Formats: sequence, C-alpha cells, structure tokens
Amino acid sequence: MKEQTMQDLYIDQLRDLYDAERQIIKALPRMIRVASSDDLKQALQEHLEVTREQEQRIVQIFENRGEKVKAQKCKGIEGVLKEGAELLEKGWDEAVLDAAIIAAAQRVEHYEMAGYGCARTYAELLGDEDAGELLQKTLDEEKEANDKLNELSETINQTALGEGESASEEDIEETSARKTTTAGRKRSAA
Ligand code: FE
Ligand code: ZN
Ligand code: FE
Repeated sequence: MKEQTMQDLYIDQLRDLYDAERQIIKALPRMIRVASSDDLKQALQEHLEVTREQEQRIVQIFENRGEKVKAQKCKGIEGVLKEGAELLEKGWDEAVLDAAIIAAAQRVEHYEMAGYGCARTYAELLGDEDAGELLQKTLDEEKEANDKLNELSETINQTALGEGESASEEDIEETSARKTTTAGRKRSAA
C-alpha cells in the first residue's frame, strides 16, 4: 500500500466530516418534530440551516483544492445518531423528552467539534489557509450550538424535573433538595 501522508489524512478527515454533516442534515428534522419547547425547536431549526452551510463549506474546500467531492461513511456519527434516535423512543414524558433531545444533540456537537478541531489544524499545517478559516468558522458554530443547548437545558431540565412529581409535601421537599444539589454541582463545574 502506498504510504499515506498528512495530506491524505487531511482529505480523509474532510470526507468523513462531509458525510457526517449529511447524516446530521437527515437526522435533525425528526428531533425538531418531536421537541415540545419552542425555544428548543427554534434552536435546532437554526442549527439545521447552519449545518447545510457547513456541508457546502466542505464542498467548497474540495473544489478549491481541485479535489473530487467525495464522502466517506462516518461510522462514528452514524452510531451517535442511531443511539440518539433510540433514546427518543423510550416513552419519556414530554419535558423529559426535550431533555433527552438536548443530551443526544450535545453528543453530536461534541463529536463534530473533535473532528473540526483536527481538520482545522491540518489545514493550517498544510498551508491551506482559506480552508483553515472555513473550518474554524464551522468549529465556532458547533461550539455556539453546544453553548445554546447548555443554556436551554437550564430551563428544560428544571421543567423535566418537575414532571411526574406527586404533590405530597415530602416529594416537594425532596425536589427542592435535589434542585439545590444540581445548582451546587453546576457552580462547581463552571
Ligand atoms: Fe456540523
Ligand atoms: Zn467519522
Ligand atoms: Fe453541528
């Protein structure tokens, strides 16, 4: 087998990311459909539009390099999306389903951030400056999407926590105790 260079690794990763974006474009509409929170629906819808631009950015990078526009099956994102789809099928209460959608979507964004971070670095190393900028732009958007999901989760998780609770005093006390713990954890993690 021909020795593979950093250039080949770079192209390999771009083909993988290209396929990943295409799979995400197919998967997002279902998440949007089953979401209850309008804010969550809107955030996912916006990210779907951004994702279409990200897909086109990779096409542009291939074309600028005179490289064939070719996808290579991203088995990683396939697994992440499949697991996410299965998660949504587990019969959650409405608000809990929104929390589950966020959990699934954040795994996707983190997976993409790892891929784009490497590809951006390779572009810069190999002197593919325009591509470096395009990939950085996408990386920033994935981070933004993840930050937005974090922000939405603060309200959505709290709503989900309240769902299915009975109104007995004991339960209410327990809930407020748990809330304190969650808030405390959030502070220490920040
Ligand atoms: Fe993306
Ligand atoms: Zn992959
Ligand atoms: Fe994304």
